[in-house]
Amino acid sequence: MSQAIVFFDIDGVIFDAKKFFISFYEKFAHVNNLTNEQTEKLKELYGEVKKEKGFFDPQVFLAKILSQYSIAKEDLERLWWDEKSFRECLLVDEDFLKQIQEKAIIGIFSKGEINFQKKKIEKFASFFKSQDIYIFEDKIVKINEVLAKYKNYQIYVVDDNVDVLESFKQIDNLVYTVLIREEQTESSNNKTDSVIDNVLQLVPLLTQKLPLNRLEIF
Ligand SMILES: [Mg+2]
Repeated sequence: MSQAIVFFDIDGVIFDAKKFFISFYEKFAHVNNLTNEQTEKLKELYGEVKKEKGFFDPQVFLAKILSQYSIAKEDLERLWWDEKSFRECLLVDEDFLKQIQEKAIIGIFSKGEINFQKKKIEKFASFFKSQDIYIFEDKIVKINEVLAKYKNYQIYVVDDNVDVLESFKQIDNLVYTVLIREEQTESSNNKTDSVIDNVLQLVPLLTQKLPLNRLEIF
């Protein structure tokens, strides 16, 4: 049997980034007694960073906050990098990863700033080998590079972004793609192999739907 690897996206798949930001805005607003209007201004900084950098860079975001609000750098850093805030936003647990690990290697294929992305999955460090973690500022352009390293593998990609999954398919039709559907999104006519509402539904897919054509190569 050939070896399998599952590449997980981080945001929207194993980490609830929206929840993380909502919680940060709430805590920051509370600590600093912000009015609703001031809190809305704070939220706009997120969009500014993404627009300027093309991805979310926390250091740029925190620097903007420091320049606009009177908060000590240490206090802001402590609030932002708070262990508990990260853990509260995890969408999977060790049990889930153990079940995946019985069937496949666990990899990461994610977009963003490396330290921030790694912090999100820090709790699960023992499940990942560093050589199977790929975090890029723009990941679609890196698909070829990553696929080349796993030529003899059965590859699964789990993402909440249909463009990423379709890009994988275009490069290698034998990659098995799984879309995590966002709430209230209608099932579109996309070409992904599976659409699920929750990443926990992935476990049965790994045994049921092996694309045989890839396995026949061996
Ligand atoms: Mg995502």
